[in-house]
Amino acid sequence: MAERCEACDGAGGRWIASLGVTLCAACAQATAGHPERPPVRLADVLAATVDTLAFTHGSDTPVPDPRGAGGTACRACGSPSSWHRTVRGRWMLVEPGDWPTRHVPTGKRWRIAGDGTAVNLGASSPTDSCRISHFDVCPSRPAPTDSAFLLALWRRHTHAAQANPASHDDGP
Ligand SMILES: [Zn+2]
Ligand SMILES: [Zn+2]
Repeated sequence: MAERCEACDGAGGRWIASLGVTLCAACAQATAGHPERPPVRLADVLAATVDTLAFTHGSDTPVPDPRGAGGTACRACGSPSSWHRTVRGRWMLVEPGDWPTRHVPTGKRWRIAGDGTAVNLGASSPTDSCRISHFDVCPSRPAPTDSAFLLALWRRHTHAAQANPASHDDGP
């Protein structure tokens, strides 16, 4: 029962329950040993902190895609995801589900605050699980190169979009 690795498409993939993806030994090791010394950009962390403070003073930007009501589908690939506003006031699609924080590269770890704001966790890992942006795994974007786990999800979305090309037709 050899399965394909969802990250590198190699043989010998094994289901990794904690991640919800199938990885070969090499990719599993790569992601499990994900270094905690990633490209932390201090400026980003500081900016996010400042934005967080500013954000508490006003929050009445309308949702860009009100069809969603909490959930929608990526226009590019049709994958289910949900819009959240970041502390910087930008909107981003967030993947459904929680993911093991240690398998997600620093800078791509998010959490959704009580008011629905997407907060980048930066270098901190206060919880065992985190959210990830759909933009990091959307097949309309370049494949992620910093994580076998994210790459596996990216490939999964790619296959899903190819198998169901009409799913992202917005229609009139
Ligand atoms: Zn692999
Ligand atoms: Zn997408």
